[in-house]
Formats: sequence, C-alpha cells, structure tokens
Amino acid sequence: MSSEALSVVIVGAGPGGLAVAGALLEVGLNRQDLLVLDKGEVGQAWLDYPSDTRLLSESKQSKDDNQIADVSTSEVFPNIPHPNHIMYQKYLDYVAQKLDIPVRRNTTVEKVVFDHDHKEFVLRLRDETNLRARFVVWAGGMYATPNEDMNMEGCFIHYAKMPYLEDVEADEVTVVGSSNGASGVVMMLAKPGRVVRLVVSREYTIPEPIDCLWKENMQFVKELENQGLVTIVEHFRVKRIYKDGDKYFLESEDGQKLTAADRPIICTGFHPNIEPIKDLVTEFCEDRETRIEMDEAHQSKKQAGLYLAGVIGRLENDNGFIVSFREFGKPIAQNIISQLR
Ligand SMILES: Cc1cc2nc3c(=O)[nH]c(=O)nc-3n(C[C@H](O)[C@H](O)[C@H](O)COP(=O)(O)OP(=O)(O)OC[C@H]3O[C@@H](n4cnc5c(N)ncnc54)[C@H](O)[C@@H]3O)c2cc1C
Repeated sequence: MSSEALSVVIVGAGPGGLAVAGALLEVGLNRQDLLVLDKGEVGQAWLDYPSDTRLLSESKQSKDDNQIADVSTSEVFPNIPHPNHIMYQKYLDYVAQKLDIPVRRNTTVEKVVFDHDHKEFVLRLRDETNLRARFVVWAGGMYATPNEDMNMEGCFIHYAKMPYLEDVEADEVTVVGSSNGASGVVMMLAKPGRVVRLVVSREYTIPEPIDCLWKENMQFVKELENQGLVTIVEHFRVKRIYKDGDKYFLESEDGQKLTAADRPIICTGFHPNIEPIKDLVTEFCEDRETRIEMDEAHQSKKQAGLYLAGVIGRLENDNGFIVSFREFGKPIAQNIISQLR
C-alpha cells in the first residue's frame, strides 16, 4: 500500500454508505483511516426527491425501520412515522455528525481502478485529483440512473428526468410501470377531471409478501380505478414509444398499440449506479432487474476489496430497503477489519 492511501473510502453518503461507515467505526476502525465521499450533501438523493416524497417505511418506537445506525430517528423527528424526504435528509446529516463520520462533500468519483502493483484502488475525482484506498465501498444508489433500455422518445422518466409531479397539467396522463414508482405517481396525479391510464406488463395484482412496502399504494390505485379516476391496461409490455405529430404511440412486445395525447411518464425501474466501477463488477439480470455478483460480505466477485452497499448491495432474499442496510453494514465492516488487523 502506498503511504498516502486511506484504508477505506466509501462512495455515497446516503443511508447505505453511512450505515457501513457506522459499522466500521463500531468495529474499531480509526476515523483517520476512513473517508466518505459524496457528490453533493450527506443524503443528497433525499434532497433531490420530489417535494411530496415521504418514507413508506415506518419509524415506530418499538421498531424503527428508518434507523441506519445506533441513532434513533426520533432524535430528529419524534412521533412522525413517515417523515418527508427533507426530514430524512436531516436525520442522515445528524447521524454523520453524531458519529463523527468523516465526510467530504461535493466530491464526485468518476472512475475507480485497481492498481495491481500497489494492491490498492485509485479513485479518480471530477476535479482531476486522485485518492487511493485499500478498500472501497460503493454506495452510489440507483434512483438517479433509470432503465433507459427501451426506446422512449420524448417521455418523462420518473425521479430521474421529470419536473415535479404537481407541474404536470394534462387532463389525460399515461404512466408506464407497475410497482412502487408507478403506483406513487398514479396516486399523486389522479384527480377529478383527469384520466390517468396505468400501463402494466402483467396483471396488476398486489405482490406477495403481502406486507411489502408499497402494497397500500397499489390498493389505493385499485380504489382509484373503482372510482373511475384510473384505468389499468394489463399485459402490455412496452417495447417502444415514439412521437408522431402531437401524439405519442406505445407499441408492446406482442404488437399491441396505444395512443397517448401527452408525453408518457415512464416508471420502469432503474439500473444500479455503477458506471465508475463497471470494470470491477460482474452484472447479471434477474427478473429483468440488473444485479451485481457479490459474496456473503457484499464483496464484488470480480474484484476483492470492493464492496457494494445500500440499495445496490442487496443480496438474494433481501428487499433492498433501509431496514436492511444497517444489517449488511456489519458483514462488510467485519470483513474489512479482519483484513486490516
Ligand atoms: C422516492 C423514494 C422513496 C423511497 N422511500 C423509501 C422508504 O420509505 N423506505 C425504504 O426503506 N426505502 C425507500 N426508498 C428506497 C431506498 O431505500 C432509498 O433510495 C435509499 O436512499 C437508498 O440508499 P443508498 O444509500 O443506497 O442510495 P442513495 O440514498 O441514493 O445515496 C447514494 C449517494 O451516492 C452519491 N453518489 C452517487 N454517485 C456518486 C459518485 N459518482 N461520486 C460521489 N457520490 C456519488 C449520491 O449523491 C447519493 O448521496 C425510496 C426510494 C425513492 C426513490
């Protein structure tokens, strides 16, 4: 290891990255050996979410599903089970301060490579400087990198590339997608005098297990359908969307067609935000969702010493929600500390 290298650099100061930082400090890593980088503020993604976003998961006194370290969310927002996105960002910032986690803000990592001679990672930053680290934990999230695999000319892409929902003015809106994102959009847009059409690739059934986070949203959408405010088009797996004149045309994989008067809103999922570490991981596709090959300690199977945390660090059978982030901070921290001792 070259003399100026840090032991651990965590990229992303969201709940995933901070949970790992907290776990590393808990197992005894020295603060000066750790650095968390974020391209914006602590919890930047939460600052960027639409203005009406609230956590679906609950902060209860008996069970705090939004807590990411040994710092209760009630220290920042007492008695609010579903805080809004700004409150949650404040909580994340509070955790970083309370645990004294070293965070460097406004620092974008553009590329991570492994230097085989020195057996350490080199992180190339946007300001053209480099950082070196023996271990890297990548916690870059995924909701700013939507799935843009299909051709969808001129569409809005939910979260990543669209104005706030309250700015949508059309009387007829087409939303493509099915689960959490799409249900949330439909709920927010449906109102008397407007027809919201939800286009889904399968049947619109509430998924099992029944206690999944967004089941209530889906039930709500069903109620809106009963009230005539929403129509659901099932079994239409969109292959292509194009614009001709003023109208948008949707084509399905099996040749069905739909017309939309206004630009459709696409909620067809996201890819993990891994561009800077792409050469150091192996991706695979499971149920049309891109995942990364990892071992039990969330370590990339392609490059030892690189760990994946937060929503992109989920292993099989893990739902990828905040409640699990602090759990899988532990194996990452244990694995790293055992190699440092
Ligand atoms: C609107 C919305 C609501 C959600 N609500 C819930 C909920 O209620 N309960 C729940 O359990 N889950 C929820 N989730 C899912 C998930 O838990 C959150 O998205 C969570 O923030 C993911 O944490 P993360 O740390 O993996 O990623 P993020 O919170 O996205 O953090 C990633 C961080 O990495 C930084 N970053 C990215 N690239 C770089 C780079 N190249 N260089 C430096 N920094 C970089 C970003 O600025 C960001 O701060 C929600 C998701 C969305 C989109």
